Amino acid sequence: MTRRNYRGGRIGEEIKRIISEMLLRELKDPAFSGFVSVTDVRAADDGSYATVYITMLGSDPNAETAAEERKEVMRAFERAKGLIRREIGARIQLRRTPELRFLFDTSSEYGRHIEELIGSLDISDASEESNEIPEDEPLAETDVDERRKNIAVPDLAEILTKADVVLLFTHENMDGDTLGSAVALCLALRSLGKESFAVVDEKIPDNILFIENGCVREISELETTFLSEKTPYLAIMSDVGETERLGRRASLFRNAEKTVCIDHHVSSKAVCDYNLIDAKAAASAEIVFELIEALGVPADARIAEAIYVGLVTDTGRFQYANTTEKTHLIAATLLRRGVSPAKVSVEIYQNFRPEKLYLENAVMGTFRTVANGKGVVAYMTREMLAQTGAMDEETEGIAEKLRAIRGVEVSVFLRETDDGKTKGSMRAKSYYDAAALAERFGGGGHIRAAGFSSERPLAELTAEITRILSDTLR
Ligand code: 5GP
Ligand code: MN
Repeated sequence: MTRRNYRGGRIGEEIKRIISEMLLRELKDPAFSGFVSVTDVRAADDGSYATVYITMLGSDPNAETAAEERKEVMRAFERAKGLIRREIGARIQLRRTPELRFLFDTSSEYGRHIEELIGSLDISDASEESNEIPEDEPLAETDVDERRKNIAVPDLAEILTKADVVLLFTHENMDGDTLGSAVALCLALRSLGKESFAVVDEKIPDNILFIENGCVREISELETTFLSEKTPYLAIMSDVGETERLGRRASLFRNAEKTVCIDHHVSSKAVCDYNLIDAKAAASAEIVFELIEALGVPADARIAEAIYVGLVTDTGRFQYANTTEKTHLIAATLLRRGVSPAKVSVEIYQNFRPEKLYLENAVMGTFRTVANGKGVVAYMTREMLAQTGAMDEETEGIAEKLRAIRGVEVSVFLRETDDGKTKGSMRAKSYYDAAALAERFGGGGHIRAAGFSSERPLAELTAEITRILSDTLR
C-alpha cells in the first residue's frame, strides 16, 4: 500500500491536524482517553471522501480487551463524525467537505508485533508501591579522575600551542555539546594561526547548525590530505571517550601524531595519548572553556556562543543535576562576551518543523509504563519516520519528555536507525543508573542520561528493556 506523503496530500494533512487537535480538546468521549492518535489521512483526489487511519497503541495487552477497546474507539469516531466534519468544513476552504471513513491503521503491524511481545511478558504495572531506593543501584558517581590520570589543563594548552594542524572529532549522533566544543576549539586554534577543522560524517542537526562558523568538513574532504599524504596533525575528540563512537572517522583519528580526549562521560575510556576527562563537568564545553582560557585566546562572541550551546543543551537548559555554580559562572562570562540566551533558545528550541511533532505524536502512542509507573518505554520504527516525514534528528528530546511524567524514574526511547541498527536513549530522574543500563547493551553515557547503539532488532530490545525495568525498578 502506498501512502500519500504529507507534502503530497495537503488536504489529508490538514484533516489529520484538525482531528488530532480535536482529540486533545473537543472530542471528550471516554473512548478517546487512551492513546488514540491519527496516523494518516488519505483524501480522494476528487475530494469526495477521506480515510482516517487510527491507532491506539499502549492499550490493554490482553488481545480480546484490546479488540473491544478498538471497537469502542471506532464507535466513538462514528458518533463524533458530524462534529468533526463541521470543524473541517469551517477550517478548510473546500467545495464540499469530504465524507469520513475511519479505519484502524493496519500498516502498524510491526508496532503491534512489539505490543504483542511486550504483552506476552509476565510483567505487571501494579507492583507494590515503594519509594525506597533499590539497594543495588549505585548512587555515587564514579570518580573518573581516580581511575585514570588526566593531563592538566595548562599542560594540554601548551601541547596545543605547539601543534600546527589540529583535527577535531565529534561523536556520532552529534549533539550541541560535542559540536559546540569542537567549534569553540576550532575557532580558538584558528585565532592562534593554526589550521583546524571539525571532521564529521553525518548531517549537522538543523537546530545547532548556526554555531558551525565554517569549521566543519566532511571526512571525504580531508581523508586524502591527512590519511595518504601523511601531513602531521593532532586529533582531539570532544564529548566522547571511545573511538567506536567516531564510526568511519576512527582511522583518521588514530592516524594522528598525538590523540586527545576531552570528555565528561563516566563511561569514558581514556584511550588517548592525553586525556582530559572530568565526569563532574556539566558539559565537555565547560572543560573546553577552561582550555581556551588557558590558551590565552579571548573567547569572542562566536566561541562564547558555541560553548554556551554545549552548556545549555547538556544541562537541559541549566536544569539537570549536573548543573553547578561553576556552570552558571561560565555561562555568566559567556553572556558578558556577547551571547544572547534568547537568541540561542529560539535557534535550538523554538525552531522545529511540524514533522517533529507528527513524529512525537506517533511515538507517544507507543509508550507503556512498567513497575507501577516508574519506568516508561517508547519506540519508533522507520515506518513512523516515513509516515510523518520526520528526520532521525527530530527524535531529540523524546526521552526527556517521557521522563518528565510524574512518578517516572526511568524513560527509555528506542528507535530503528537508517542503517538497520537500534539506538537506545535512557534518562533517569533522581536515582537510577542509566549509564549502567546502557552499558548492558554496549553503550554508556552519564548516570542520568545514557544511550547505546545495537545490532539487535527493535522489537527484541523493547521487550528486553521493558522486562529489565519491570524487574529492577521498585
Ligand atoms: P542520547 O540518548 O541523547 O543519544 O545520549 C545520551 C547520552 O548518552 C549522551 O551523553 C551520549 O553521549 C551518551 N550515549 C548515547 N549513545 C551512546 C553510545 O552508543 N555509546 C556511549 N558510550 N554513549 C552513548
Ligand atoms: Mn556532553
